[in-house]
Amino acid sequence: MFGKGLLKGLKITIGRFFGKKSTVQYPEKRLPLPDRFYGKPDFHYDKCIACNLCVNACPNKVITLGTDTVEKKKVVTGYHFDQQYCLFCGLCEEACPKDAITFTDDFELTTYDRNTIGIEFVKQEQVDNKIKEIKQAAAEKAAAEKAAAETKVQTENTDKEQTTNKEGGA
Ligand code: SF4
Ligand code: SF4
Repeated sequence: MFGKGLLKGLKITIGRFFGKKSTVQYPEKRLPLPDRFYGKPDFHYDKCIACNLCVNACPNKVITLGTDTVEKKKVVTGYHFDQQYCLFCGLCEEACPKDAITFTDDFELTTYDRNTIGIEFVKQEQVDNKIKEIKQAAAEKAAAEKAAAETKVQTENTDKEQTTNKEGGA
């Protein structure tokens, strides 16, 4: 029959028009994301122990870790995440023993410039503060050790004096 297809189409259109909406007005409205969604990475400088496990776990060489040694302690000086090669597989997060690398639910990762896709998480200020903290702790430890050594020497001298006095009095 002529117009049968048209009526069929109109039926679907009208049904959809009055039916339950299955779209949302993005970006004003957003659908809830699953808990295990992997979006933009996040790095927590104070938790990182510079163990390199995330770097070794990554199949795409996305992460570059920079380290330095201060007072025999490893300091993270850089954590570069080349996001354009990331598979969002989560292997780095899984490998990290300190939860220092995690993933947010931010999926808007596009940029206008390819050179800005990579993220350098570590700021020079954080490195400077960490080095200061380590040096301060080392200085305090050295001072405490020196004070303990001096106290020990003083105690030994006092014991010697007392022994000599006892022997002299006997
Ligand atoms: S999510 Fe996967 S590909 Fe991306 S940095 Fe981590 S291990 Fe590498
Ligand atoms: S695995 Fe975790 S703690 Fe180790 S270097 Fe990577 S982010 Fe830091």
